[in-house]
Formats: sequence, structure tokens, C-alpha cells
Amino acid sequence: MKSYWIKSVDEKEVNKFERLQENIKTDICIIGGGLTGLNLMYNLRKYNINTVLIEKDKICRSTSGNSTAKITSQHGLIYKYLADSKGIDYAKNYYKANEEAIENIANIINKEKIECDFEYQPSYVFTGTIEDIQKLKDETNVINSFGGKAEYLEAKDIEISNLIKTVAGVRFDRQAQFNPYKYANALAQICNGPRMKIFEETKAVDVIDEDDCYIIKTENGAEIKTKYLILTTKYPIVNIPGFYFLKMYQSTSYAVGMRTKEKIFNGMYINSEKPTISLRMAKDKDGYVLIVVGSDHKTGEEMDLSDSYTRLEKIAREIYPNGEIKYHWNTEDCITLDKIPYIGEFSKVWENCFVATGFNKWGITSSKIAADIITDKILGFKNEYEEIFTSTRVEPIKNIKEVGNIVKESIDSLVIKKLEIPKEEINQIQKGEGKIVEIDGKKVGIYKNEKDEIYKVDPVCKHLGCELTWNNLDKTWDCPCHGSRYDYKGRLLYGPSVKNL
Ligand SMILES: Cc1cc2nc3c(=O)[nH]c(=O)nc-3n(C[C@H](O)[C@H](O)[C@H](O)COP(=O)(O)OP(=O)(O)OC[C@H]3O[C@@H](n4cnc5c(N)ncnc54)[C@H](O)[C@@H]3O)c2cc1C
Repeated sequence: MKSYWIKSVDEKEVNKFERLQENIKTDICIIGGGLTGLNLMYNLRKYNINTVLIEKDKICRSTSGNSTAKITSQHGLIYKYLADSKGIDYAKNYYKANEEAIENIANIINKEKIECDFEYQPSYVFTGTIEDIQKLKDETNVINSFGGKAEYLEAKDIEISNLIKTVAGVRFDRQAQFNPYKYANALAQICNGPRMKIFEETKAVDVIDEDDCYIIKTENGAEIKTKYLILTTKYPIVNIPGFYFLKMYQSTSYAVGMRTKEKIFNGMYINSEKPTISLRMAKDKDGYVLIVVGSDHKTGEEMDLSDSYTRLEKIAREIYPNGEIKYHWNTEDCITLDKIPYIGEFSKVWENCFVATGFNKWGITSSKIAADIITDKILGFKNEYEEIFTSTRVEPIKNIKEVGNIVKESIDSLVIKKLEIPKEEINQIQKGEGKIVEIDGKKVGIYKNEKDEIYKVDPVCKHLGCELTWNNLDKTWDCPCHGSRYDYKGRLLYGPSVKNL
């Protein structure tokens, strides 16, 4: 399902970039055409360095083009957590880096005259429970103590309190929102030229580390030889070295968009408690769209997902009873164990290779920060924020519960589930259902469509071999270990896997 952002753009007006057909040599190769890859390409454009960006599908159709598109330094209630776990200076620098990213994105949009529905809006974390009031007060105090600007508000001062249960909130002023698909496509158009080439439908399937360069093998058969390699595939497609698969998991969220006759509220909102409710309005030539995001879960978790959208539709109707729900979409992002992105060197043993990942569903500003840090690293400059996001950090892991979950999920899916003998028989599978069954002593993933046609896959993830689970909403096979996803025919939708089933 396409997001509102993608549907709001006439495809005829979107630039198409050719596939890579022949072997090429370049100075810099960026793998991944989301916001991180494109922001980076835009930065490098000033320096006249041969740069190639390859994208496996089309520009900005993955997580970036399916986000809520809030450009904000308010990443939930992060600052009290950062101050407690890393110190107040750390929290201050994280805030400064993200505040600057908002202005840096705004400056690009102004300078390049990009029409992407950018507008400054305040952002709020609100709560509907009195139990969270103290957390919101603590967050406000921490931010103000290091010189940041946050305001604690009671419900009466929060615009949405007459629309959704709200008892308090924290406001950040001069935050922003935009249409990420319009922004990304404009950047792609600006960047593509003789020294900077974008290739779409060009999937990297392997990376080889040679003495003085990297060779990227693509699915089309063509190879790229490059001095610098930047992995902006969201989840790194290279496992070793790097070992990011031990440090992150993926989480999926759902969105609905409702057409409304008027602007219902100003500002962008997210609640502090679970389940997550994230809200914003968008405006286009046809009027307004209310966007409600939530229903989060760990990607690949074995669960009934059938009400993921209906739950959000209900919230939208409570807010605005007479609107028409027109858009549904979902996407996933990488979650790190310490809630901080990994930006910088991919590994201590791979020189000239950089990565940006683990944005914890706050990658609009983080992708700009990442682009700036990596640009400075390539050019040999020191970036004042690089140490906050050090990608090769090895620290005592405090989030023991989540580490335990990652290890348990991997053992379950790599070993235990594989030994389980499926109870179901193929003829017990209902129309529209997917299940793993045993055929001739081998496990097979079966999907039966509404016409009783059967699609078979090998239900083992091509990334690291975990057993896949059936997603009964999207009719996909999802990996509970690292979040790769495949359609019912076994075609890859989301990495880190690079192969079809
Ligand atoms: C539901 C949801 C809502 C969100 N809302 C917000 C928000 O409001 N504000 C905010 O700050 N953040 C938000 N985020 C997070 C943010 O959208 C992401 O962190 C950010 O977009 C990631 O950008 P990216 O460029 O790193 O990844 P992506 O946008 O995923 O781009 C990676 C690209 O790499 C390509 N690729 C992958 N593998 C290969 C390969 N083998 N070869 C070639 N290309 C490849 C993919 O096709 C993709 O286009 C949200 C996340 C979710 C899940």
C-alpha cells in the first residue's frame, strides 16, 4: 500500500533513473536512496567528487516515504533518559544536533526552492494518563536545565485536548513537517548529473572488501568499484564485520490518512504511553488530511495483526467523525538497544566504509545529521556531533531485557521453531491464510488465496536463516529476528536480506 506522501505526487512528474547495466568505477558509492542517502548525495555535490547512488527500487519508496514526516528534535521523552544514562552534556548535544538539523533541512528547502509542503509547527508529547505527568515534568526540566526550550502544559493549553484524552503535554516550538517524498525526489533531481549518478532498480547483493577499494555486486550483474562505500540501506545489508544484527531489531508502525474538510488542529503530537498514538495534519490542493500513526509491534512477531488499521481508524473517527479514510500504509525502522542511532565508520576493520542506521523512528532529522557527519568524515573534517552517534561503540548494555529478547527470538527462530513439526495440514489452510506445513519431511510456507490458489515458499529468511512468520494483514512472510519481509510469492520487500526466498 502506498503512503499518502507517495500518492500525493503525480508519478508522471517523478524523475526516473536508469538501471545500472555495466561495470563502473567511482570515488564514492552510496547504497540506498532514502533520505539518508539523498541528503548525503546533496552534501557531496559541492565537492566535485564522482559519486554513484544505487537504489534497489525507486527513490524514497521505503521507510522515508512512509514515515509520519515530522522534522523534530522532540523524539518522544528522550532527554531525561539521555541525561540519566549518558549525562547532561550528552543530552544537550543530542538536542543541539537535532535542532540544527531542522534548520539545515529548512535551509536546503529555501535555497533550492523545493515545494514539499514544508511548514513550521510546534511539536508535543502529550499524555492521557495522570501516571505520566511526572515524566513530562521531568523531561521539561531536563531540557530547560541544559538551555533547551520546552514548555510543560496542562490539558487546557493543548489544542487537541477537546479531541482526544489529554491531561498534560510538553511543547517544542519551531519544529516542522513536510512531504518527504516530494523533498527526496527534488534532491534526486538536483543531484543527478555528470559527476553524480543515480541508478534505480539496482540492488546491491554483495560487497567485497579489496585492498584499496570495495566491489559492489548488483543483482543486474554489473559491478561498482569504489574507494568509499556508504551503507544507507536503513538496516545494513552487510553482516560481518559490523555485526549490527546483534545490536538492533526492527519495529513496524501503521498509518491511516483521513480526508477532512478543514484543518482540525495545529501542531504535531505523540503520546508518551503505550499504545502509541502519533498525529499530524497535512495540506494539499484538495484540502486537509489527518494522519494517525500507531499499532507498533516488533516486525515479524507472531501475532494477529488484523486490527492494526481499524484501531487507528477508530481514533481518527473519534477525532473527526465525518472524514473519509482514504490512505493506509505501514513501514518499519531499526531500533537500537540504547535508543541512539549508529552513524560513522561501519567497522574498525573496514576503512572508508560508513553507515547510518538505528534511527528509532526519528530518522528525518537523524538522516540529515548522518549525512553531515559522513560528509565530514569523507573530507577529513571533525564534526562536533560525531562522538554522540559513534557507530562502533561497544558499551555495557543496560537494556538487558531487549538484548535478552533479541537473543531469545534468534534462538527460537534459528533453532527451536525449526525443530517443531507443524501441526497443520495443507488442506486445513483456509482461503486468505498462510501457514507453515510439512511436506515430504520438509517445512513449506503455504499461502492460499481467495481463489484457492496455492503459493509455496521456503519459509527461511535469506538473511541469517531464521524461520519466518506469516503476517495475516499484509499477506507477507516476516522475519522475527531482523525484520526482513517477503511477499507471499517470496519476493523481497524489506532488508536486511538481499535475496528472494
Ligand atoms: C511509521 C513510521 C513513522 C515515522 N515517522 C517519523 C517522523 O515523523 N519523524 C522522524 O524523524 N522519523 C520518522 N520515522 C523514521 C524515519 O522515517 C526513518 O528513520 C528514515 O526515513 C530512515 O531513512 P533511511 O534513508 O535511513 O532509510 P530508508 O528510507 O528505508 O532508505 C533506505 C533505502 O535503501 C534501499 N535499499 C535497501 N537495500 C538495498 C540494496 N540491497 N541495494 C540498493 N538499495 C537498497 C531501500 O529500498 C530504501 O529506499 C518513522 C518511521 C516509521 C516506521
